[in-house]
Amino acid sequence: MSMRELVVLGTASQAPTRRRNHNGYVLRWDDEVILFDPGEGSQRQLLHTTVTATDLTRICVTHFHGDHCLGLPGTIQRLSLDRVTHPVAVHFPAGGAEYFARLRHATSFYETAELRVEPIEADGQRITLGCGTLEARRLRHPIETYGYRLIEPDGCRMLPEKLAAYGIAGPAVGELIRVGHLDLDGRRVTRDEVSVPRPGQRFAFVMDTGLCDGVYALAEHADLLVIESTFLESEAALAAEVGHLTAAQAARVATESGVRRLLLTHFSQRYPDPRRFHDEARAHFDGDLIIAEDLTTVQLPPRRVASAG
Ligand SMILES: [Zn+2]
Repeated sequence: MSMRELVVLGTASQAPTRRRNHNGYVLRWDDEVILFDPGEGSQRQLLHTTVTATDLTRICVTHFHGDHCLGLPGTIQRLSLDRVTHPVAVHFPAGGAEYFARLRHATSFYETAELRVEPIEADGQRITLGCGTLEARRLRHPIETYGYRLIEPDGCRMLPEKLAAYGIAGPAVGELIRVGHLDLDGRRVTRDEVSVPRPGQRFAFVMDTGLCDGVYALAEHADLLVIESTFLESEAALAAEVGHLTAAQAARVATESGVRRLLLTHFSQRYPDPRRFHDEARAHFDGDLIIAEDLTTVQLPPRRVASAG
């Protein structure tokens, strides 16, 4: 079975604390191992997990504030140090290309790893992966910022007993899936007769933003939504002013968007007690709620069951 999970490297926002490293997350999704927003210390946090730099296939940066990207120089150099042989794609807001260029070559090193630099040029840009589509949506923050979501297309699960009843086996199964029907002795068997729908899974990553359309577009029907809740409602005015969300806002987005598992993170150092984020969010979201902690792993919830008919 394929592995789909999020490894949390760090959960602090502007300043790290004794318990929280700067931001950083790794999504394992089938053949993709995607590093999101590596803040300072991400390379060392990796050592405490089962992910290695060599595993990484892709890096996604939401924006060029330090807590979301100062881990890039070390991580990029590590790819060369470890002689990574596969290309690693890197996505970031195109307007921040100058920052990326500096971070990439922040110091002298012997560069062998191949980076495939693919900046995000526009809202709604899509990148086709083997396992689905990666989509970037513009967020509302003082500098150009994009959130990301990964969408697996809906598919179908073939029912072996029904295939057997029609005597369909071997390459005919592939043809039935591809074409949608099969003609057998004058009778047409459709794919729907011998399968059930298999809803695609969705992962969304929403960092540093005030409420905006992009937040809702990313969160829509996410199986796992990773979303910043830098502040609590007591600081709602400040949050709006600096382009951040409160725990209550993030929770309401999750409810309105039909999110199944909600992971709150990117906490301001002003709140030492994480239970306050839980209590505030719980009042607005009754689904699966997790307050992120460093060096924990969060599974994608089991696949949605297709609705009948
Ligand atoms: Zn920011």
